[in-house]
Amino acid sequence: MRSSTPMTQDAAVATAASRRLSLEEIVSYCRRRGFIYQASEIYGGINGFWDFGPMGAELKRNIKQTWWEDMVTRHNPLVAPAGTPSPFEMTGIDSSIIQHPQTWRVSGHSDLFSDMMVDCHETKKRYRFDHLAGRWIKDREGNPLFIAAAPDAPDADAFLDQRARKLLGISKSREVVWDSPLTDLAELDDFANVLAPHASEKGTLTEPREFNLMFKTYIGAMQTAADAAFLRPETAQGIFLNFRNVLDSGRFALPLGIAQIGKSFRNEITPRHFIFRSREFEQMEMEFFCPPETSHQWYKYWQQRRLDWYLDLGLRRENIRVREHEASELSHYALGTTDIEYAYPFMADGEFGELEGIANRGAFDLNSHSMGRLAKADPPELALDENGAPLHRGSGKNMVYNDVARGEKYVPYVIEPAAGADRALLAFLCDALEIEKLGEGGGEDSERAVLHIHPRLAPVKAAIFPLVKKEGMPEAARDLFGAMKRKWNVTYDEKGSIGRRYRRADEVGVPVCITIDDETISQGTVTVRDRDTLEQQRIKLDDCPAYLDKLIEG
Ligand code: ATP
Repeated sequence: MRSSTPMTQDAAVATAASRRLSLEEIVSYCRRRGFIYQASEIYGGINGFWDFGPMGAELKRNIKQTWWEDMVTRHNPLVAPAGTPSPFEMTGIDSSIIQHPQTWRVSGHSDLFSDMMVDCHETKKRYRFDHLAGRWIKDREGNPLFIAAAPDAPDADAFLDQRARKLLGISKSREVVWDSPLTDLAELDDFANVLAPHASEKGTLTEPREFNLMFKTYIGAMQTAADAAFLRPETAQGIFLNFRNVLDSGRFALPLGIAQIGKSFRNEITPRHFIFRSREFEQMEMEFFCPPETSHQWYKYWQQRRLDWYLDLGLRRENIRVREHEASELSHYALGTTDIEYAYPFMADGEFGELEGIANRGAFDLNSHSMGRLAKADPPELALDENGAPLHRGSGKNMVYNDVARGEKYVPYVIEPAAGADRALLAFLCDALEIEKLGEGGGEDSERAVLHIHPRLAPVKAAIFPLVKKEGMPEAARDLFGAMKRKWNVTYDEKGSIGRRYRRADEVGVPVCITIDDETISQGTVTVRDRDTLEQQRIKLDDCPAYLDKLIEG
């Protein structure tokens, strides 16, 4: 019997018709295929926390690894990139999740990293004060009633109309007559007449109170106020705290980028949209220290370079937006901030959500950790308490850099590209996952779910199949699998028809399937089938490692 790999149906058809998936479909796909599960699912889950399964853990590790390689280990410090003033150095650290509590006072996270919140006694829901708005209307007795809209309702007016009709018995044929346009809750003097979203009684909202987003813990056994510490809400501060250590121990010269990847924790009030906003997440941050007068040029450089990173790894240009913040949006110390935004599937058409922020932070951070909490960054001015004493003292350590090459001394300026590994993973998944129509006629072969993820990011790099379970093919396939496994995460699959095995591999984004058939045994060749083009070609068995290397690295 001749058993070389048949051209399966998929190789012959066009893949023109395809569709992106909704967030619900993506959540269900992630669970089904071992990418992401709700944390503590067997106990009913825990809001704002997620666990990564076998596929998700590999994908996330590959995203972080690719970022680290592209930012740190593959960087050439001898060559100035086009349009930049000089070559530069890159290195990395791995700092503690818990830092000295003074870190967060000086950085501003203790004071500013909080939002005003209101709680509803009846529904037990918590809302950001500045997210609540509603309209005035007369209740059945003719008294004023303020109906608040749910902040996550896609259409506030439709939500309010529906609530008013139900509460006041207004029939569909009559128009709802409101006494005011949409008004922020902040404009109200008291909340006695406010009907909270989803509540049945009015007056159930608390006064706004401050809600700090940092998770508190205690160091040691005593748990007194003096032992309080915080889980870091960002990885950046660990880099600022170690700036001098890295400079002094590494023989580095400026410009220098110090990168870090690690967990961050924010007690987000409304974790939502799957892993987009969670309470525990991973950041990939880099602080780039440079001479002040070159900072704008470097800011522009990092904007472009970070955008290119996402594009090179396959995100579609039309799904990405680069948004420079208006002057009014900037913090008092920031000289410029740009968000790289992605059109996540839970956003309305034309809307985008933050994927990464790139900021020119000036010398704010180093000055703060040296002098203390700053009220003004340029020139630096200490924030004072009511007695005129520094609000939060700095370390007193000297952050001035002696730039021998330029013959100057200065506190370096900082450009910060701050990305989220989880938001990047979500964007790569949303962008790459498609249902493709393979042919007419319906049935399970007429479409395939395929994850067109870049080979560098793919959780599994190749799937190795024996065409049939006889004639020496499984043995040859297992040998190849064993050899490839030493370098790459590859899988071996001998169950089901070859078409079914292709589908299973496509669904989790395996870039190439390698089939061992009788020509492998007789002539030492295999069939390689490309996930995206569906093309099949014969190559030498011995060339498989080189083929995969080229596919991954391009
Ligand atoms: P947002 O405005 O969406 O809350 P942010 O501006 O507070 O984000 P940064 O402090 O700039 O975010 O953090 C850098 C990156 O960390 C963000 O671009 C995002 O990718 C990621 N990130 C921040 N908060 C979260 C979160 N709660 N869950 C997942 N990723 C997050």
